[in-house]
Amino acid sequence: MIQFPFVKDLVLIGGGHTHALVLRSWGMDPLPGVRVTVIDPSARAAYSGMLPGFVAGHYERDELDIDLIKLSRFAKARVITGAVSAIDPVAKLITVPGRPPIAYDACAIDVGITSIMPTLPGFMDNAVPAKPLGPFASKWALFRETAMAPELAVIGGGVAGAELAMAMTHALRGDGHQPKVHLIDRSKVLTALGKKARSKMMDALESYNVTVLEDAPVAEIVADGVMLADGRHIPSQFTTGAAGAKPHDWHSDTGLTLHEGYFNVDANLQTSDPAIFAVGDCAHLSAAPRPKAGVYAVRQAPVLLDNLRAVLSGKALRPYVPQKDYLKLISLGAKSALAEKWGTVQSGALLWKWKDRIDRAFMDQFAELKMMSQPALPKDHASGLKEALGDKPMCGGCGAKVGPKALSDVLATLPVSTRNDVQQIAGDDAGLITLGGMKQVISTDHLRALVEDPVLMTRIAAVHALGDIWAMGAEPQAATVNLILPKMSDELQQRTLAEIMIVASDVLGEAGASIVGGHTSLGEELTIGFTITGLCHANPITRSGGKAGDQLILTKPIGSGIIMAAEMQGIANGGIVVEALKVMCQGQAEASRILSRAHAMTDVTGFGLAGHLNGLCESSGTGAKINLAAVPVLDLAEGLSANGVQSTLFAANKSAVAIEGATGPKAELLFDPQTAGGLLAAVAPEDAEQILADLLVAGYDAAIIGALTETAKIKLH
Ligand SMILES: Cc1cc2nc3c(=O)[nH]c(=O)nc-3n(C[C@H](O)[C@H](O)[C@H](O)COP(=O)(O)OP(=O)(O)OC[C@H]3O[C@@H](n4cnc5c(N)ncnc54)[C@H](O)[C@@H]3O)c2cc1C
Repeated sequence: MIQFPFVKDLVLIGGGHTHALVLRSWGMDPLPGVRVTVIDPSARAAYSGMLPGFVAGHYERDELDIDLIKLSRFAKARVITGAVSAIDPVAKLITVPGRPPIAYDACAIDVGITSIMPTLPGFMDNAVPAKPLGPFASKWALFRETAMAPELAVIGGGVAGAELAMAMTHALRGDGHQPKVHLIDRSKVLTALGKKARSKMMDALESYNVTVLEDAPVAEIVADGVMLADGRHIPSQFTTGAAGAKPHDWHSDTGLTLHEGYFNVDANLQTSDPAIFAVGDCAHLSAAPRPKAGVYAVRQAPVLLDNLRAVLSGKALRPYVPQKDYLKLISLGAKSALAEKWGTVQSGALLWKWKDRIDRAFMDQFAELKMMSQPALPKDHASGLKEALGDKPMCGGCGAKVGPKALSDVLATLPVSTRNDVQQIAGDDAGLITLGGMKQVISTDHLRALVEDPVLMTRIAAVHALGDIWAMGAEPQAATVNLILPKMSDELQQRTLAEIMIVASDVLGEAGASIVGGHTSLGEELTIGFTITGLCHANPITRSGGKAGDQLILTKPIGSGIIMAAEMQGIANGGIVVEALKVMCQGQAEASRILSRAHAMTDVTGFGLAGHLNGLCESSGTGAKINLAAVPVLDLAEGLSANGVQSTLFAANKSAVAIEGATGPKAELLFDPQTAGGLLAAVAPEDAEQILADLLVAGYDAAIIGALTETAKIKLH
């Protein structure tokens, strides 16, 4: 497919129900020329329809969540994991703390509501708001694991509060407890339902022994319960707030017209600024006000999609006409549900099955995304093309590196430098330049983007490039930036460059280096690289100083290559991907300082732990024994390895190094290419424990993974 230049930025704020559906449709039929960005604090957006079922124990956590990372990969959107705190409609900039502002041409807001009650004393410390749904679900799962003689309180006697009260009771009974659950409301409960439905719900609450406290305003939430205004103390170890909708506070910092704190939107879902749309619970439909319910958020999706495409391509918009009423399907703790529409009420197990089918069908839309596949080969093609293309998309980051053998074969044919002020230390991380009495190291690195977000990619590429300098025990000094941006308009080039340069100077500045120049060009895909010099105040730490008996310390878990390969194929859990990216972003300046007494050091990157260990052993004239159990790995990496997932460079890495001993999925991870991986250091045995302790205190997930040996072999046990 032709990659059209980007000329407009569309930013979707929040991964709520409407945006999830918009992204799915966008992935199937994108508007050429538009770069899409999604911003959400979480990698997973919980689906409200299944939340009570999850609380009751009918669904697993994964079944409840829309994986925003997978969905964004499908839609070729960049994901920003963060919470928007402000929008400037004049400058057309969105603020997410901790990163440069994000520019937009069109933007939509779908951030839902919150059940946080900051003005209720004790709420922030002692209660769990029902919304946002994701954090609520996580805290509930934790409570279930540790609950003993549980007593609970739900503040807010709306439909959601009543559903939660019954679901909690059902789950805890299933866990062998006799819970006491209190449903508390400042006035009457379940007022949004008709008389018949309310009466059935009250019966259902009674059958679960839920204590309903009406006309009972809450004065304070305390550590062991709820204090009512009339002085009663309601014991509770898990107090949740489901008392209606509250808009997020930051809405008022946007300058947009609000209605009771919600974004006021017209029939086209446009706010007071025509470039900004708002949907779902966070919007007030001024033309036809409706209650806050997921069903409206879902139905707004096709209209929002059409209208976003329309504003980005200069076409006419169309109105959203909300339905007058909607079918309420309310779960009743066990696998039973109550249905109400137009005053008709039914309940029972069959309705649960129906609700379950509807909810699963909704979620299946996100589970069955057809991910990027290799282009079909033309009928006539050169022999060898199929093998070179492979059967999976090419990895980004270090997974896209040229294999170790191809590289070393070519480098071996090059003439050795005859300059006596420049030293190429065979296979080492950086070259050494001697200037007067001063020793300077120099290294270059660039990465094919493994995520669409230039800011995150810059951070990873900078940490990755600095790794060579840190591995030599040097102090980063100066850097040049080498960029290839995907084809885009002048304006988008400027936006993207600004984002990249702000982050590059942040990361390099923090490491002590100044940016002194660079080179940019346009090309097929985002590639970010740095050439960095470092100053050595002592002799550089090379790979050749290791001695038999030295302990081997690794400062980061391995597995980033396989996780990102799985992410590209749409089979990685988004939460795990975000964690892996965080590990890649972790700088190694402090680790390098702590390891300054290392005999030999290298950074673990494209050739995997095995390849870089092999390099260290060859240069040091040793072998190594590795305790496989001690090697830290990222969550789920081993499972992916067991399922046969591999990064593009895996096979070349594996064929380049012979390892004896243990085999299996974890052992295979030693060949997994790492992007911005950890430092691997050989340290004196008497120093090892203290160094490890210092690394752990400094926040590194480090481990002693083995030792160097006399015999020139690498053995795994
Ligand atoms: C227990 C419970 C059960 C419910 N059951 C039903 C039901 O069965 N049927 C029904 O129709 N409705 C139900 N609702 C209501 C339903 O949850 C909402 O109407 C629905 O989720 C609204 O969807 P949304 O798209 O507006 O936002 P949400 O689904 O709430 O999504 C908002 C997203 O925005 C993100 N976000 C928040 N702040 C920011 C920020 N600052 N920057 C970026 N992103 C941000 C969040 O992480 C989240 O992913 C229920 C509610 C509760 C509490």
